[in-house]
Amino acid sequence: MRIAALIVAAGSGSRMGSDGSGLAKQFRLLAGRPVLAHTADCFAKHPLISSITIVAPIDAPELVVTALKNGPSVEIVRGGESRSASVALGLAALPSDTTHVLIHDGARPLVAAETISKVIEALKTNPAAAPALPVTDALWRGVDGEVTAAQSREGLYRAQTPQGFEINAIRAAHSGGEAPDDVELARLAGYPVAITEGHEDNIKLTYPADFARAERILQARENNMDIRLGNGFDVHRFGEGDHVVLCGIKVPFGRGLQGHSDADVGMHAVTDAIYGALARGDIGQHFPPSDPQWKGAESHIFLRHAVDLASDMGFTITNVDCTLICEQPKIGPHAIAMRAEMARIMNLDVERISVKATTSERLGFTGRGEGIASISTATLVKT
Ligand code: MG
Repeated sequence: MRIAALIVAAGSGSRMGSDGSGLAKQFRLLAGRPVLAHTADCFAKHPLISSITIVAPIDAPELVVTALKNGPSVEIVRGGESRSASVALGLAALPSDTTHVLIHDGARPLVAAETISKVIEALKTNPAAAPALPVTDALWRGVDGEVTAAQSREGLYRAQTPQGFEINAIRAAHSGGEAPDDVELARLAGYPVAITEGHEDNIKLTYPADFARAERILQARENNMDIRLGNGFDVHRFGEGDHVVLCGIKVPFGRGLQGHSDADVGMHAVTDAIYGALARGDIGQHFPPSDPQWKGAESHIFLRHAVDLASDMGFTITNVDCTLICEQPKIGPHAIAMRAEMARIMNLDVERISVKATTSERLGFTGRGEGIASISTATLVKT
């Protein structure tokens, strides 16, 4: 799956009334940052999202650029005259390898990783899926401030976003016409839409009081934030060979590294840093060297396992820092490729991954050129 997030921020937000800024709600400040920056962050931090595209107001696309000045990197597309037209323009601008899209309201800045994950999970077996919560309040009809009838709440849901679709299904649905939301368009085009579990905090900022509630939710999350730091250390000895594999990159060299797997000392240290942050043992426990099936194994298998475990436990990896310790080979010329390869394996932005190197001033086993060591750290956050 290549999952794109399409955030719709093209509305005028006129229902909010004026807060003196004259800005639509998705561009106003929430806890000191534009609402849209919070929204984009929710998707940027999710490990399964591969791209983010934001649909901007037709008459003021620069508002999105300004709102995301200190935010994650995104594609910005100018919207259309209606919501449907804006979504269609956004769909047309997604990366060509996109297989699924999550369409989200720019004014829902509190969507949890768990809500996004449940939609993605449902998309494995459904062409469309969206979060919702059952209506629990009693419902009345009323006229002129007087109750005229009770309304059954049976089978009623409060719809939320992100609404997820197979890319071809939603493109076909949009070619068919207009509807107030994308789920309705998909249904009219004949695609069944699965309901996933929404969350009470996934509110759409509509009225001024919603901002105060959203700030309280953000504050509570900050108070509950679980931040983990892990470290990993690994050593492999030089032996016969004509190359070494470091952080997933084959580096030509007059010697090789010995080990049960591909002996990627950098990737092993990063993997152990993640296990360490989770307090879930180390590579040797998950992939015992005594087990012949891991002989010669490529280390991306180990790293991917640690990344998946972090995700399963509700953590987001926010950064990794890997130091390689050796006199030779020179790491600098390969560092960018190493960062890119680990970013690809971990499904993280390359800006969150550091690979650097040091010598040990010719002291000790690394100084004598007997092998390569690596020390790495990883930061994981659960909100
Ligand atoms: Mg190792």
